[in-house]
Amino acid sequence: MIVVQKYGGTSVGSIDKIKTVAKRVAQRKEKGDGVVVVVSAMGKTTDQLIGMAKELSDIPKRRELDMLMSTGEQVSISLLSIALNEIGYESISLTGFQAGIETDGYHTKGKIQDIDIEKVKKYLDEGKIVVVAGFQGMNGNGDIMTLGRGGSDTTAVALAAKLECVCEIYTDVDGIYTIDPRLFPTARKLDCISYEEMMEMASLGAGVMETRAVEIGQKFNVPIYVALSNEEWPGTYIKEFDATMESKVITGLSASDKDLMVTINHVPYNSKNISKVFGALAKKDINVDMISQTAPSHGKVNVSFTAPKTDEDIILNIMESLKNEFEDIETDIERDITKLSVVGIGMRSQSGVAAKTFEILAENDIGFKQVTTSEIRISYTIDTKDTTRAVEAIAREFNL
Ligand code: ADP
Ligand code: ASP
Ligand code: MG
Repeated sequence: MIVVQKYGGTSVGSIDKIKTVAKRVAQRKEKGDGVVVVVSAMGKTTDQLIGMAKELSDIPKRRELDMLMSTGEQVSISLLSIALNEIGYESISLTGFQAGIETDGYHTKGKIQDIDIEKVKKYLDEGKIVVVAGFQGMNGNGDIMTLGRGGSDTTAVALAAKLECVCEIYTDVDGIYTIDPRLFPTARKLDCISYEEMMEMASLGAGVMETRAVEIGQKFNVPIYVALSNEEWPGTYIKEFDATMESKVITGLSASDKDLMVTINHVPYNSKNISKVFGALAKKDINVDMISQTAPSHGKVNVSFTAPKTDEDIILNIMESLKNEFEDIETDIERDITKLSVVGIGMRSQSGVAAKTFEILAENDIGFKQVTTSEIRISYTIDTKDTTRAVEAIAREFNL
């Protein structure tokens, strides 16, 4: 059997931790499995690298950022491989490119297009432990690309999809909780969660798994197991929904302060204009969410949406260029907002969840700026200062 294991930044954050990871990987190899290990950059390395670039420039070129950020993972793959060799296991480290990871899309948010898996397979056949750099690949121009923050998860699940094997994500938390335990320490751990719910929770702020990783997992039916990196302890399975899963209306709650809210005031009322605005954002691959629009007044509407804070520079550029066409528009950006979402497949069959959450927010005097719903989630944009109160009230009511 082949297994892909992924160890996150905290789990490889020091030489001692790398030794611990090497021991766990070796144990797995001893069981007779072919082992591919994906690792992230050590500790906060990626943040530090970005920090250095920002000391030189407010808006560094994204190609250069990719070149810079990808070095973090190269440090950890080589160190882990050295640690494995040292304890008597044949191992080889590979960059994303060497592992055949082909990407396309935009710099700093590349998408895996395909993986030429032959090299990885060859080394596995030779009995080697293959250590692959997470978070990176190469595009058609031969440029290094990174896959967006948290992208090592994506590397791991995509490799598992290609190798048709299971993917184990080892991290600093012992599984998936109903709410980020850092935000709400008494949250409950889930034995399993559906791809669909995990994808919503991840995209709405549950940083324990990268959204695209879960998406690839679902598409290729890769069983994903999330567990602690430094201890044997039961974790959480992410898999297709089935009847054995806990049937609660709400499975989890996510909160994210990684987005800002953009409001464009005075857009001439015409659906073609709105389409132009969002077309311009889509062209630059801006991940827009929570779209809302006011009723027309004097032939104008105000349009709001949320988007990642990391794309603020691109959004401002787009808004500036839209002024050529709509000279009256004014852009307002709110940064102190939190996107709060409740997620659950149970919502499909149970009505009244929206009414209940409105009631909870009203009782606690928490205002919201926007609300959007899908079949299995309800999201609110609230002031960041209200987050803890809102999380506690909703968790209490839904027993999370
Ligand atoms: P890694 O470096 O291993 O990739 P991350 O920091 O990306 O680790 O993800 C692990 C963190 O995700 C945990 O420390 C936890 O605070 C956070 N997290 C957010 N939401 C959840 C959740 N619903 N369940 C568990 N952990 C969560
Ligand atoms: N090192 C990258 C990051 O910090 C990728 C990852 O950790 O998954 O975002
Ligand atoms: Mg992560």
